[in-house]
This record gives sequence, C-alpha cells and structure tokens, in this order.
Amino acid sequence: MCPSTIVEAAAAVQSPPPPVPPEARAALRAWYLRAARPLPWRAAGEAPDPWSVLVSEFMLQQTTVATVRARFPAFLARFPDPAALADAGAEAVLHAWQGLGYYRRARLLHACAREIRDRHGGRVPRQRAALEALPGIGPYTAAAVAAIAFGEPVVPVDGNVARVLARLHAIARPLTRAMPELRRLAAGLGDPEAPAEGAQAWIELGALLCRPRRPRCGDCPLALGCRARREGRQGEIPVPPPRTARPRRYGRAFLARRGDGRILLRRRPEGGLLGGMMELPGTAWEDVPPGDPPAFPLSGRWSRVPGRVRHPFTHFALELELWRGEVEAPADQPGWYLPAEMAGLALSSLTRRLLRHGGVEPPAVRGARRPSGGAAAGRE
Ligand code: SF4
Repeated sequence: MCPSTIVEAAAAVQSPPPPVPPEARAALRAWYLRAARPLPWRAAGEAPDPWSVLVSEFMLQQTTVATVRARFPAFLARFPDPAALADAGAEAVLHAWQGLGYYRRARLLHACAREIRDRHGGRVPRQRAALEALPGIGPYTAAAVAAIAFGEPVVPVDGNVARVLARLHAIARPLTRAMPELRRLAAGLGDPEAPAEGAQAWIELGALLCRPRRPRCGDCPLALGCRARREGRQGEIPVPPPRTARPRRYGRAFLARRGDGRILLRRRPEGGLLGGMMELPGTAWEDVPPGDPPAFPLSGRWSRVPGRVRHPFTHFALELELWRGEVEAPADQPGWYLPAEMAGLALSSLTRRLLRHGGVEPPAVRGARRPSGGAAAGRE
C-alpha cells in the first residue's frame, strides 16, 4: 500500500461512522421480520433468554447454523440454565457437545457457567465488560449477547456482517485486513428502536442474501445504497485472503479388538487438543510420515487398513494410517468397549472417522447429522 493510501485508511478508521439512513434501517428490519429463519434460540415474540443466547453464540463461534440448529435443543434440555451446566462433570459436558467440534469451546462454556454461578448469582450478566470477563467470551460474543439478550444497540461484526459492509462500501481488501475499518462502520449500525432484531438482521442478511457467492442483490433491502452493486463488483468483494498452505501432520492409530468384540480406547490428556475426549491409541502427530515399523500397543494379528484418514484442524491438517489388530487382553482390563457402549462416551469426530475407516460403525450422535469433522467454518 502506498503512503497516501495508508494515511487515507488510517483517517478512515479514526473518523466517525457514517449515519445509516432511517429508511435503510426500516427496510432492513422489515425484511428481517419477513425472512428470518426460525432458529431454536430465537424467541418468537418473547424476550430472549440470555442463557439460550449465550449458549447459541458459543456454538456458532466455529460451527455452521445447520449443525448448531440440530444440536442446540438437546444441549439446552440437558443444561437449561448456567447452574445445571456448572454442576455437571466434564465428561457429561463433552459428551453433550459431540457433533459440534472444537471441544475447547465446551470446556470454556463449562468454565463460563461456573463463573456465572459463583460470581453472578447464576444469571448471565448484562454489561458487556462483565460478559467479556467470562471465560470463552471475546468482544464479538459479548456484543452479540448484549444486543440480542439485553437490547444494547450494537451490531457484532461476524463474517457475515463484515462481508455485507465490505460490499456496501466497496472495500476491496481481505476482510481480516479491513477489520478495523469494518468495525468502525459497524459502530453506527445499531438500531435503538429494535436492538436485538437490528443486530440479527445484519447477520441474517449476510447469511441469506449477501452470500459469499452469487449474492441475491435483487431481493436485498440495502441494494439502493450498495456501492459494490452499483459498480458491478459484488463478485470481487470481499477480496480473498492470500493463500497459505496449512501444515500437515502425520501419525498412526491402532484399532485393537479383542475376541469378545471390545475395542481399546484411551482418554486424551486434559487441556490439549481434543482434551478429555476418548480416542483410539496411536502415535504422536509429527511433521513427517511415520517410517519405522509400527510399535503396536498389544501383540496380536495386525494389518494396515488401506488408505488414510484425513482430518482438518484449524492450524494443521492431520493424516493418519490406521492399523487393525485382533488381540488378546485380560477380560477385566479397563478401557475396552463394545461399539454400542460408546454411546455414553465423548468421542471426537476424528475417532468416529477412524472407527468407520476400520469397519466399526460408532453410535450415532443424537439429534445431529453425521459430524462434519469439527472444522466447520462457523456461522453462515
Ligand atoms: S446489494 Fe447485493 S452486494 Fe450489496 S449488500 Fe445487498 S446483497 Fe450484498
């Protein structure tokens, strides 16, 4: 970027946001009331329940609306208020989170519920500063809860809202780089007359009309003021981020099966990736494919399952070899499960994928579609 462009960009970030014409705000709200999807965490005609809103926002941080829609009712039925979740054990929380991926959020939501129980009398706090002080809640989630649950006239900037704003103002830069400017623009968007609907209308507009590809400009309530549409540049904005190769890691997993059909599982260490979840035993994940002969966890008849299991994590892609073995082990040894008994365990989608690759169908996650691999791109 040349120096004058940098100066212009800095000035743009510091100057106050442009006001939203009242007719545009009214058109957006009217469209939202007509077109909004009925989602289980949206209260139709009632005051929204802050706990429901907070749980849904945790789930939506990195998982698509379709997956959250399927999992949310069962989770909320099991943990209907902060105290119910705070009093539950970690295993129960991880189990209920199955199918949503990114299990770190389940642990943070659990810690958040405990803090709400212990420091806020069991009620979700109203103030944004108090919300942001809770585990797992950053500025976006705090703004979303403040707007939707407590009627603060703010518009949280998620990927949907960022895309809409970039197109409305024809900001031809990758969204991550344009974020300071987009936040400044969003600062003037809150609807003082209907804050919750106002915030959700912007998110919904990005999800339903101003979609990443082929935006439906003909139906858009903001089309008249949209610079990208006027200039015919909807397809170019937002500019995609520069491509960076995701590092790859490799390892082996072992599907050990006893004569009575039981399969050996172990628990991952707390605190790390997939912490506390059950998995097949395996090697460490390394930067190069395993070369040495496998060191099997038990003696038996082992054979390699053809192909590889690939699994995307946020910061790397994992590629595992799977080895299947018929083994002998004492009947009273802990850690061995029949497939049907795995319904009560917190199994990651990676473990489910490995089991299927090895010819074992894991129990279905109740109320969910087949897990997407836990690497969904978030709200849409
Ligand atoms: S007119 Fe089209 S590009 Fe502009 S905000 Fe609406 S849907 Fe998005």
